[in-house]
Amino acid sequence: MIRLLTFILITAVLVGCTVWFADNPGRMTVVWLGYRFDGSIGMVALALLALTAICVLIWRGWTIIANSPGWVGRLLGSRRRKKGQQALTMGLLELASGDVRQALKHTRAVDRYLEDDTLTRLLTAQAAELDGNNDAAKRQFEAMLEKPDSAFFGLRGLLQLSLKTNDREDALDYAERAHRLRPRNPAVIVTLFDLLLTSKRWDRALSLLVDAQKAEVFGEQELTRRRALLITAKAEDAIASGENAEAIKLLRKALNAAGDFTGAAVLLAGLYRDLKQETKARDVILQSWRTTPSAALGAIYLETLTGDPLAQVKSVEKLAATNPDHVESQIILAEAALLADLWGMARNNLEKAMTRKTEARHYRLLADLELREKQDGAKARDLLVKASHANPDPDWRCGACGAETDRWVVSCPSCHSFGSVEWRSPLRVHQAPKTTAPDAGNPPSKDAAQKPAAIEQNGTIIDHSNDDDGGSDSDNANTPQKGTQPAV
Ligand SMILES: [Zn+2]
Repeated sequence: MIRLLTFILITAVLVGCTVWFADNPGRMTVVWLGYRFDGSIGMVALALLALTAICVLIWRGWTIIANSPGWVGRLLGSRRRKKGQQALTMGLLELASGDVRQALKHTRAVDRYLEDDTLTRLLTAQAAELDGNNDAAKRQFEAMLEKPDSAFFGLRGLLQLSLKTNDREDALDYAERAHRLRPRNPAVIVTLFDLLLTSKRWDRALSLLVDAQKAEVFGEQELTRRRALLITAKAEDAIASGENAEAIKLLRKALNAAGDFTGAAVLLAGLYRDLKQETKARDVILQSWRTTPSAALGAIYLETLTGDPLAQVKSVEKLAATNPDHVESQIILAEAALLADLWGMARNNLEKAMTRKTEARHYRLLADLELREKQDGAKARDLLVKASHANPDPDWRCGACGAETDRWVVSCPSCHSFGSVEWRSPLRVHQAPKTTAPDAGNPPSKDAAQKPAAIEQNGTIIDHSNDDDGGSDSDNANTPQKGTQPAV
């Protein structure tokens, strides 16, 4: 509306001026610098109006440009950012492809075009690291610590470098600092946990599990397992330094957290046995036997029994009754029966166990039985030969590298894996899965030869003949191959 009124007013003024100039005609003559201008007064007024309009337009244009340096800056800045981002992308791609020289070339462009030097430093550090120049990489990562925004990434870079150069003390320091900056970062939690284990800082590792739980790094089951392992590791240290009461307290705590933890049960029962508290040792084993019977626990149980062999058998029967169908229950009954000269009971339990599982110790027990009950030396020798080819006995072994240890330890002494040492049978490559021939030296059947070789664990399925005939004659599967039979 205002615009319309302004337009009408300007038009009226112009029309009025035109009419007025038409009603009052005249001429104007200007002589200037040797030039002469001669025209009507209306033409002069029009020329002055046009000149004013041109001046106003020029003035407006200049004002827009002069008052808008941000606009020009934005245009230029946008181009610089675009170039910088392109260089950054190319640098990262070159790094991924392993071309350090090209990556460094793009790094210089990133530095030139992008104002924030964090990305440049990160790219430069990674390129230097890939190039094997750890000192240069370290300098870049250290420079990143100066800014709050890039400090975490600098610490992570320094942590990786320290791990690479096996400087574990520095790595632990960087990991702790990175964890303080970002307590929920899963990668840092896992690395810090491993470093704490290496330096045997059990209490700090236990407190870190609280953060791990909040960050959902491990599942509930794994958290419980790790807690039990750490508490047992503390108990190990307590045993080594003679603090038996503290060790017992810790081991009970570990077993409360994870009742099926054989390592803790064996340590606790063994400690009670060494302290001559046999009843407590047996109570621990009775409790664990329900869920995780093992020859390790069985051996300690038998060691705590003294006196009349028949009474010992009664005690073992009480243990076996907690888990009557388990092979280990049958084996420990056979062992106790052998000691008490109860041949029928020993044979019955051994045969029952061997229908499901055959290990070297089972053949040795059977050989002992043949010798003591029937004085059959030839049969005993034959069984001992079979024992030498049977699945090895279970022992404390690392599940990661297969190394044997003489007792339970929290980390494998060979490969340093945490919690990998368990009571288990070794891994074994089985090359002749089945033979139906009952005698040693016979070649395997055609069907058996067609079965693929397999890697089995825990000694439960190595013998494929058990799959077919229920293991009634399972020792056949362990028949030595021709030419490999050793002398007895
Ligand atoms: Zn290992």
